[in-house]
Amino acid sequence: MLRFGDLMEQVISNFRVFGLRDVIDIAVVALAMYQIFVFARKSRAGQLVRGLLLLFIFYALANLMELRTVRWVLTSVMQIGFIAAIVLFQPELRRTLERIGQSTNLAKMMFSTRKQDPTLRGAWQSAVVAICDAAEQLSDTRTGALMVLERVNNLDEIIRTGTPLSADVIPEMLGTIFYEGTPLHDGAVIIRDGRIVAAGCVLPLSNNLEMGKDMGTRHRAGLGMSENSDAIIVVVSEETGIISLAKNGVLIRRLDRQNLFNLLQEEIIPPETAEEQAPSFFSRILGKGGAARNVPTESKH
Ligand code: ATP
Ligand code: MG
Repeated sequence: MLRFGDLMEQVISNFRVFGLRDVIDIAVVALAMYQIFVFARKSRAGQLVRGLLLLFIFYALANLMELRTVRWVLTSVMQIGFIAAIVLFQPELRRTLERIGQSTNLAKMMFSTRKQDPTLRGAWQSAVVAICDAAEQLSDTRTGALMVLERVNNLDEIIRTGTPLSADVIPEMLGTIFYEGTPLHDGAVIIRDGRIVAAGCVLPLSNNLEMGKDMGTRHRAGLGMSENSDAIIVVVSEETGIISLAKNGVLIRRLDRQNLFNLLQEEIIPPETAEEQAPSFFSRILGKGGAARNVPTESKH
């Protein structure tokens, strides 16, 4: 009979063979597969991936049964199909690669003091209150608005499509920008680090077919931006006054001021305790700025 000691020895020796290299190997492949599935699910490529899977299954069967002609046809189809897929899905592939490039901005992630910077925290806190106030007022006056709140993914490409600005986020400023007839009222406002950095920006439109017919290009642009980046987008409808929020390709509709505030607070301003628990990698090692400090909070709330 196998003794407990022997069993343990076997397990340990197996682990010795199954080293850290294998763990990294499997993790990288798993992550890549996951990203491909997420990409396929979010884009038009979903059908394509299903088609490719089917082709692979046929190919494996043809191989198993040694059907040489079928195998030759399938190999040729797959070779041509691969190139065709790159050409057909070039926009999606480009966006996905851009996104990977943006979010793996290593220096930004490792040295990031963004979330820990108390002045930034304060700026975002008052910006969130101003955005909620503005959204409520714009909704009451049936003024269409589109506000993009930048997070980790850099939105320079989008900012370049509009007019650069540098202004505090205050309801009056947002009201002025979106007031119908003004030169900057069309398009989106981009808010970075709690400040308005551009207006009149053009956002990528979503291809989502499940969007209601009652929603036009403003909502489609808001949703599209959330599919292509980690930004949070606030949309106010000109026709109905409905306030919506888009994030990660999901549009949350019919928000009132309080709901919007809660969502933005949760998404944009990290809780102080989280800062305490999760300081950035380097600040923890260097002992810099990891601990949360007292930040003046907005008195309106
Ligand atoms: P609403 O409910 O406010 O009418 P909607 O979803 O029905 O919104 P439209 O009526 O088509 O959308 O809104 C058109 C406005 O949306 C444009 O005037 C422009 O300001 C904005 N818009 C449209 N497309 C984009 C885009 N790609 N990027 C930024 N803003 C856009
Ligand atoms: Mg409309």
